[in-house]
Amino acid sequence: MSRPAPSPRPGILQIEQYVPGESELAADEVPIKLSSNETPLGPSPKAIAAFRQAAAELERYPDGNCTALRSAIAGRYGLNSDRIVCGAGSDEILSLLAQAYLGPGDEAIFTEHGFLLYRIIILANGAAPVVAPETNLRADVGQILSRVTPQTRIVFIANPNNPTGTYISIDEVRALRAKLPNDVLLVLDAAYAEYVRHNDYEAGIELVATTNNTVMTRTFSKIHGLAGVRLGWAYCPPEVADVLNRIRGPFNVSVAAIAAGVAAIEDQAHEAAAITHTEQWLGWVSAELEKLGLKVTPSAANFALIHFPDDPNKNAAAADDFLKSRRIIVRRVGAYGLPNALRITIGIEADNRAVVSALAEFLGGPAT
Ligand code: PMP
Repeated sequence: MSRPAPSPRPGILQIEQYVPGESELAADEVPIKLSSNETPLGPSPKAIAAFRQAAAELERYPDGNCTALRSAIAGRYGLNSDRIVCGAGSDEILSLLAQAYLGPGDEAIFTEHGFLLYRIIILANGAAPVVAPETNLRADVGQILSRVTPQTRIVFIANPNNPTGTYISIDEVRALRAKLPNDVLLVLDAAYAEYVRHNDYEAGIELVATTNNTVMTRTFSKIHGLAGVRLGWAYCPPEVADVLNRIRGPFNVSVAAIAAGVAAIEDQAHEAAAITHTEQWLGWVSAELEKLGLKVTPSAANFALIHFPDDPNKNAAAADDFLKSRRIIVRRVGAYGLPNALRITIGIEADNRAVVSALAEFLGGPAT
């Protein structure tokens, strides 16, 4: 009897593959890459040294419990290390949460312009994605709550969000948690937390510590400049940490990632330099682009969302083409429901100046 070829679980073929920020132009050009929210300062030199040193022990499996790394993170933020789970990027942790808590018939909520990975991991586990509208490109607690049903299992919020750069205050997060049913896991994706300079913001550590249904995820990819080694972590209620530890790969974080991560989290001076640099240049880029007449969504992160005119010669697609012709790569965000915007990562001074000059030239060109 002939049987059909293997087929994936329902939902998987509905997934549109995640398209990372572009990184290449024509072969002989070195691009200015402002498309993936990477830090222009690179990792701590101490993290690079630790990574190199790890080359001496590559034949050994890593410590599957990431003991040294969890203890370094716990020491840095005053956390209980038993509640920390590390992963190969926060992507992995988010996927594991979806895998553990979602299945067919379940629903998970994320916001209108929320990070694209949420839809992918919800569908990958056979659950239904539910989109909560945003207000002024910001997560709206009332809209999220109004989408909760008895089938809701997870609410994902990126705070600050990628690609909008907007954030919600810890009071809003607390209000959301208080009104969500107890059996709904609230996942606070705080990938950009270190960059936020607002007194009403907190990543959610206290909420995780005082509830049994809130998780915070963090990454070494952004402020710590270790996107290439793949390292992230979650702070969890004990029950959730236990669940993640059961389903994760036994050696999901590499020897080199652990070594680099410990050195990075301990180098507070490097982190502080990245914060200062970003604050200064985010302000400058935003102000300069506004002077050019572009609308810039106020960002709490290390990138800015820029809105373009509707004129087909001046819209986001035309701007992107123009920037590419100047070897500058930024991020198109049509897939995020923002077809006429571009997301620009804050880079080194020269790159920030280059993108502002290029856009001035682009907008100054012949109008239609
Ligand atoms: N969350 C958000 C909001 C992000 O923007 C990103 C990176 N694009 C991630 C999570 C995942 O980062 P990583 O897997 O590198 O930790």
